[in-house]
Amino acid sequence: ARAQAMQIDSSPDVTYDDIGGLESQIREVREAVEEPLLNAEQFREVGIDPPSGVLLHGPPGTGKTMLAKAVANETDATFIKMAGSELVQKFIGEGAKLVRDLFELASEREPAIVFIDEIDAIASKRTESKTSGDAEVQRTMMQLLSEMDGFEDRGEIRIIAATNRFDMLDRAILRPGRFDRLIEVPKPDFEGRERILEIHTREMNLADSVALAEWADETAGFTGAELASLTTEAGMFAIRDGRIEVESEDFADAIEKVEAADGDVGIPVA
Ligand code: ATP
Repeated sequence: ARAQAMQIDSSPDVTYDDIGGLESQIREVREAVEEPLLNAEQFREVGIDPPSGVLLHGPPGTGKTMLAKAVANETDATFIKMAGSELVQKFIGEGAKLVRDLFELASEREPAIVFIDEIDAIASKRTESKTSGDAEVQRTMMQLLSEMDGFEDRGEIRIIAATNRFDMLDRAILRPGRFDRLIEVPKPDFEGRERILEIHTREMNLADSVALAEWADETAGFTGAELASLTTEAGMFAIRDGRIEVESEDFADAIEKVEAADGDVGIPVA
């Protein structure tokens, strides 16, 4: 089960340059995760503990996983991912053990970034109720907290969690010494969208008529993931039409398609 429940990437290839519109979040992640890994000695000499865990919160598809991978890349750390939802749905009864295995694996592979996606699945307020399934979830969360509490002497392991349901989180995991650094990862504003479109069209053969600023303007409310699929869909429309150059009208068609695929988008945020 261990191999299935964890996704290990010994050298993720995402860089900060691949992430659009999250400059301040990148700065915060570097300070909270990268600095303590690269300058552990300095933290010791100054005599402070670095932040224990970083929690990224914001809508799905905004770049939380990318941020965690980019830090791992930058620090030459192993990236080890576990999804909270799988712990409780797929590996019923094994949650606490898998959490233990996760940290054991991280210490074998340090420096390591442990990334726990959808942490709300194991640390939501709902788990305070007393049904038996919840008791198992509760045990998984207690194991995570105890791993984190015994953490200071643990060397070069940093832990990053992500959620898109911040309001549902059990506050116990936000206490000092646990996930004590919160970083909000919002949907991109106009400039963020323009940058994300630039990033995802870097390798594309765009006609001169394509003005990315125009499409950034037309995509208020889109997430990074939706902008990425917009560029792919635009390319698909060109291919269907037998062209090798992507035109402005392909973006227009692609917007309709992406909007139809997800009723959520199109709500202006900025
Ligand atoms: P989830 O909560 O669904 O796990 P997430 O916030 O972790 O989502 P990612 O997995 O990082 O989102 O993003 C999914 C994909 O969307 C990325 O692989 C990338 O192609 C694109 N993407 C998302 N956000 C950005 C961004 N800020 N800049 C560039 N690409 C982005």
